[in-house]
Amino acid sequence: MTDTMTGGPGVSAGAGDVLTAEGLRQILAECDPAPLLMSLVHLTGDTTLLDEFADRLEYSRPGTHYAAPVPGALPPGQYPEDVIADIRACAAELLADADPDAQPGLGVPAPELFARMARVATSQEVDEEFIPLLLEQAGFVTDERHVPVTVTPPTDFEVIVIGAGMTGINAAIKLGEAGFNYTVFEARDEIGGTWTRNTYPGAAVDTPSHYYSYSFELNPHWSRYYPTGEEYQQYLLDVVEKYGLREHIRLQTSVLEMSWSEEDQVWDVVTRDAAGVVEHHRAKAVVSALGMLNSANIPDVPGLDEFAGRVIHTAEWDTDLDLTGKRVIVLGTGCTSVQVVASIVDKVKALDVVVRTPHWIVPERTVVHDVPEGQRWALEHLPFYNEWFRLRSYWFASDNLYRLPRVDPEWAAEHFSASRENDMVLKNAQKYLHDSFGDRPDLIEKLTPDFRPYAKRIVKDPGFYAALKREHVALHRASFERVTPEGVYLTTGEFVPADVIILATGFKLEFTTRIDIVGRDGRKLADVWSGGEDPRAYKGVQVSGFPNLFVTSGPNSAPNHGAGHNITSEEQVHYIVECLQYLLENDHASMDVRQDALDEYNAKVDEALDETVWAHPGGQVNSYYRNSQGRPIVPCPWRLVDYWTMMREPDPADMVFVPANKSGEKA
Ligand code: NAP
Repeated sequence: MTDTMTGGPGVSAGAGDVLTAEGLRQILAECDPAPLLMSLVHLTGDTTLLDEFADRLEYSRPGTHYAAPVPGALPPGQYPEDVIADIRACAAELLADADPDAQPGLGVPAPELFARMARVATSQEVDEEFIPLLLEQAGFVTDERHVPVTVTPPTDFEVIVIGAGMTGINAAIKLGEAGFNYTVFEARDEIGGTWTRNTYPGAAVDTPSHYYSYSFELNPHWSRYYPTGEEYQQYLLDVVEKYGLREHIRLQTSVLEMSWSEEDQVWDVVTRDAAGVVEHHRAKAVVSALGMLNSANIPDVPGLDEFAGRVIHTAEWDTDLDLTGKRVIVLGTGCTSVQVVASIVDKVKALDVVVRTPHWIVPERTVVHDVPEGQRWALEHLPFYNEWFRLRSYWFASDNLYRLPRVDPEWAAEHFSASRENDMVLKNAQKYLHDSFGDRPDLIEKLTPDFRPYAKRIVKDPGFYAALKREHVALHRASFERVTPEGVYLTTGEFVPADVIILATGFKLEFTTRIDIVGRDGRKLADVWSGGEDPRAYKGVQVSGFPNLFVTSGPNSAPNHGAGHNITSEEQVHYIVECLQYLLENDHASMDVRQDALDEYNAKVDEALDETVWAHPGGQVNSYYRNSQGRPIVPCPWRLVDYWTMMREPDPADMVFVPANKSGEKA
């Protein structure tokens, strides 16, 4: 082995970098062994390497470790120590002796080989049905078109996208690639949706970085395993620059209303820009990419307006606000609150956290960790390491977790938890609580939820529990009774003096209902959805009577058991492009989902949801997942692989079409 190297085949050590043998050893010590092994297979093209290690692993069925953990068994996906050592030794040898100019011996693996590799990479059984999804989500292939593409979109086939967040940007890229003319209207003054709004201290994504990005735009440079909001927004901005989307995006331009013209088979869309100029546009199709958590939920507390200090909601943050030395009250205890509390605790003079309903909180080893240098080097330089790293990140956070929010009626009849799997999460959260506050039974009591895990979003702790142990921090299991100029009276009767009140009280759930959308026969979407109380859509995106309107992040389409919004965004955008291409291929002007197809789909959704903690009596807790009647309107009840599969292309049998040459006539 030589003691220096500049990289291996397909490997660049970085501009001008020379790695010593010791440097390489340090890098390899920080690499994950599974993606490293896969990368070596790519590097050499030698699949016997795969077989050699494959025989030394034990394989479990996805999710089974939750149901029946084997005492002493390795956590899922973790290799035995001797295997890890041998992979690193093998890597040290192969990388040191490799020709830096050679191409990787193996590019994108054929599905059969990929399936073998995925099994070894996860040390789990990977059923065939997952292979196409994994190839795409790991970033090996971009989404494949299903509807035949023989017709180029005509220039007058204009599509309007509303919103320039993760989904709007995704839609812009995919519409552009498919040849459609499109314009994105964004009400805010910058691109990035959620991450332009949530700039509170500690704002971060709570889905792993390497997975929470576009599968067609992998980023090997993440600085943390969970990105800050700022880093995530920068990622989106970089994507926008790379794809040249800016010229298609009109910032500070709100869509006010839109109505369907049956005669012309177009949407008439009215916008207003920052200067107050109102414009009228016409579009063959509209993609709403507004997201559902936009408007701050400001609690109606007497006296809030009279507070002498500053009242601020996390989604309306003022980055000039300096909390140093201030007495601060934080209301709420969701994903946002824990990030704020962990992040400001060192700055403030006094911190009072007011918890109406505690969430189940679990430890997450890497939630605030930087990606070590060696790991980053491998992600940036080793061929396909990033893809395999992402595959594992996705795999263990997705359908592996599908059983967790599902109710096993027999188990649930006798236990607080919903199922054996759900019980594992409960035990994990309880253990974390008790380990954290062994000497503070008062905090254990105040922080123990009385509902089943997953009924509300599980919170990953970025340092919340540690903050609560600090001397200048107090936790109150209460709510606000009334606010005076000097502070807050709590429902416990206590008075808490304060300089700043931070409302980490979440959002008003809105499914496109802020815009006046008028479909066929003058029907308004907001009315059809009972003002947002009872939103129903077909596959989460189409509503009968609203032809060529595609609502992304729509009702019952969020993967609340696992993974992240990014996969929903990609699935829905893929489906929309397929629908539009279908119209062109078949010379149709519009498609509208049949009411009976929508009803049938929703009956299945409701049936599947009945088996989850979100609908079950044990999960009856206030959360934005559910409407005022207790019906879950946010979660998608399907496995990700099922939803991904059903979103590959439209089912014409479920649609009503109007031919392009007979505009104005319903089929
Ligand atoms: P949330 O989960 O809805 O939590 C809001 C909190 O405020 C709850 O503890 C709620 O208590 C409390 N609250 C609301 N109104 C109240 C009132 N009138 N009096 C007392 N307490 C009140 O909101 P969030 O934490 O902002 O999170 C919303 C969603 O945004 C998350 O679930 C997640 O999807 C997303 N998010 C993601 C990240 C991330 O990726 N890192 C970060 C933040 C948010 P009750 O339970 O009693 O209603």
